[in-house]
Amino acid sequence: MDQKKVLIIEDEKSISDIIKFNLVKEGFAVETAYDGQDGYMKAISGSPDLILLDVMLPIMDGFSVCKKVRETSTVPILMVTAKEEEVDKVLGLELGADDYITKPFGMRELIARIKANIRRSEFMTDQADAPENVKEFGNLAIDMNRYEVRKNGEALELTLREFELLKYLAERENKVFSREQLLEEVWGYEYYGDIRTVDVTVRRLREKLEDDSSDPKYIMTKRGIGYYFRRP
Ligand code: CA
Repeated sequence: MDQKKVLIIEDEKSISDIIKFNLVKEGFAVETAYDGQDGYMKAISGSPDLILLDVMLPIMDGFSVCKKVRETSTVPILMVTAKEEEVDKVLGLELGADDYITKPFGMRELIARIKANIRRSEFMTDQADAPENVKEFGNLAIDMNRYEVRKNGEALELTLREFELLKYLAERENKVFSREQLLEEVWGYEYYGDIRTVDVTVRRLREKLEDDSSDPKYIMTKRGIGYYFRRP
């Protein structure tokens, strides 16, 4: 495997140093930035394989950096949050962050998350060349291999996580899954996840898939239990 490059955008030098030390030990190349503006410049010019992005930063905060990077790049972004309000904001906004981790975190957890996000993005790049495998559900056509979804022939813009959740449920029609099960199966977090992530992703999927997201026809809620996919 070729060496992967991580860009750390973190203003607290002691934290940045210890993360860098551990990533280098794991075989990563590491670049660092100590404010949002420099971080943004390095994100664009340095073509990292992943960006570890702190929320509270001088000059430009992590939310703004994330949004700006997303205008031109699909690089995986792992947001670092310190407070519950920041988590709510990461989950609630359409920032385009791939994942988040809350301070204080352990190095093993951080490295596992970095590796998982890089793997996922590489997997996505490979999928573009896969043979078609389209399944139809009412007005929806889901290409299970190429990660493409069409509704009435129109392509929908889903994020990777949104697609993975849709695919997982659609391949198991009518079977109900709890949020904990979905987090484990779709996100692959046995220990670190936050079940609100599942609710937020379902809400976004419905906004994109359904004619009326308050009266869903595809992704259904089983009250008190979880979610399932239904053929309309
Ligand atoms: Ca900070």
